[in-house]
Amino acid sequence: MAPAGRSTFYALAPVPHLGRADIDWEVEGPAYSRRLLEILEQRMLPGLRDRLGEVFHFGPADFEHELNSHLGSAFSLEPILTQSAYFRVHNRDDVIGNLYFVGAGTHPGAGIPGVVGSAKATAGLMIKDLAA
Ligand SMILES: Cc1cc2nc3c(=O)[nH]c(=O)nc-3n(C[C@H](O)[C@H](O)[C@H](O)COP(=O)(O)OP(=O)(O)OC[C@H]3O[C@@H](n4cnc5c(N)ncnc54)[C@H](O)[C@@H]3O)c2cc1C
Repeated sequence: MAPAGRSTFYALAPVPHLGRADIDWEVEGPAYSRRLLEILEQRMLPGLRDRLGEVFHFGPADFEHELNSHLGSAFSLEPILTQSAYFRVHNRDDVIGNLYFVGAGTHPGAGIPGVVGSAKATAGLMIKDLAA
């Protein structure tokens, strides 16, 4: 995305999704973004803010409105024990035939390796069902 001679950079800061905390992201988003840049500049990237061309932040409300992500969650279901492995959404529905699920909320989980694994698992099941 950066023009020639420039580069892109992002800082990821975990925050609660919209169902967990009543935060006005219109107000807190810009404030939190400014605070993060301050901390980054103080601790590891001196002069950071003077070098920035375009700056924007993307929070839970943006995840919900722009990406249709449930409650603005950036990483889908939290990977706690009861939502992991067998307990995560199955790639093939247990009840409805020909209904399959894929992506971060399903087995094996979020992250690029996870969703590629999920795509392989789901495609494998579909091929198997087609052949049956
Ligand atoms: C800031 C950030 C940094 C990350 N960094 C890493 C990293 O370094 N390494 C790593 O492995 N993972 C990383 N991840 C996690 C990784 O990006 C996700 O786990 C992965 O992209 C999830 O893939 P997905 O296909 O399930 O969903 P997504 O990539 O979210 O794709 C879902 C798509 O469906 C679209 N959509 C939603 N509703 C509809 C609808 N009704 N109709 C049509 N389209 C719809 C959305 O707009 C979106 O484009 C990061 C995530 C975030 C948020």
